[in-house]
Amino acid sequence: MNIQKITQSKLSNIKLESLAFGETFSDHMLVCYYKDGKWGTPSVEPYGPISVFPSLKAIHYGQSIFEGMKAFKDQDKNVFLYRPEMNFKRMNDSAKRMAMPEVPAEVFLDGLKALVDLDSAWIPETPGASLYLRPFMFASESAIRAASSSEYIFMIICSPVNTYYDQPLKVKIADKFSRSASGGVGSAKVAGNYAASFLPTIEVSKEGFDQIIWTDSSTHTFLEEAGTMNVFARIGDTLFTPCLSDRILHGITRDSVIQIAKSKSIEVIEQDITVETIVNAHKDGSLKEVFGCGTAVVVSQFSSIGYKDQLLTLPVLQAEESYAVQIKKWLQDIQYNRAEDPFGWRVAVK
Ligand SMILES: *Cc1c(COP(=O)(O)O)cnc(C)c1O
Repeated sequence: MNIQKITQSKLSNIKLESLAFGETFSDHMLVCYYKDGKWGTPSVEPYGPISVFPSLKAIHYGQSIFEGMKAFKDQDKNVFLYRPEMNFKRMNDSAKRMAMPEVPAEVFLDGLKALVDLDSAWIPETPGASLYLRPFMFASESAIRAASSSEYIFMIICSPVNTYYDQPLKVKIADKFSRSASGGVGSAKVAGNYAASFLPTIEVSKEGFDQIIWTDSSTHTFLEEAGTMNVFARIGDTLFTPCLSDRILHGITRDSVIQIAKSKSIEVIEQDITVETIVNAHKDGSLKEVFGCGTAVVVSQFSSIGYKDQLLTLPVLQAEESYAVQIKKWLQDIQYNRAEDPFGWRVAVK
């Protein structure tokens, strides 16, 4: 790996505790080029603009994928990644679906560690804060022939972040738009999936909602995801989450929530959840919590759910009664090295 360090860190001019999400980037980035059927040597360089031609294939045809993960610092300033091999594997699953080359472990995982180690001063130490890591790959051939690119760029950039959405969210169940469809790219972390969700999200925001609960595209009767998060509903004392499919992103937080809940003797059932089940459980008082989960937010509670003309208001639970609050704490205790990690999810950098 080539490493070219900055001469003067930008960090002295920045207040890490008061940053907006994802707008500030650390001193360095990783870049690796794919050409003539192979990956070159990755290099770590000062964060800055890259130069591309207007015929860049990623711009025209959206052949672009990404990952989202975080680095954490414990009280003694030890640095950890969280389940990085899961992101590595998922990035390559997305690559396969988008007819892009797979990224080698030496580029993704070793590159990630080298970059995080070099920019470790950028990992905030305030509670709930971390260094958000964004590995991504895009088609970089300069040609507008509509076919898979012959060249790609893989990069990693890092952004110090504080806690995201503290307030419980108002969500609206989708009955017109869809996030994904069977046989499509919903389970791949594809840039265009996000682009397609912006308009529906703007529309519900006009009605006062923060996010959309996506439903299946053919009948709009089954819950699938919540915004850019996986979704869980607690009915009675059982947690339900939709089964994975090619329409649902295989969230690493989702998997972590399931494993942690089970280890704490909470029953978790992966099965199709109908909108009707949610409406009926709300009516009979057994719907206790609905929440989303993902790397950025960890766990995000919902305060109410809009469905057609109804508004289902969820009960306000004490922190110690809430699965969402407790699971978030258990998960973060592992991430920040405040608790044992029986699952082996923390990976020390260095
Ligand atoms: C990234 C993502 C998630 C969450 O995945 P994590 O691995 O938990 O961060 C959920 N849904 C969608 C659509 C996503 O893109």
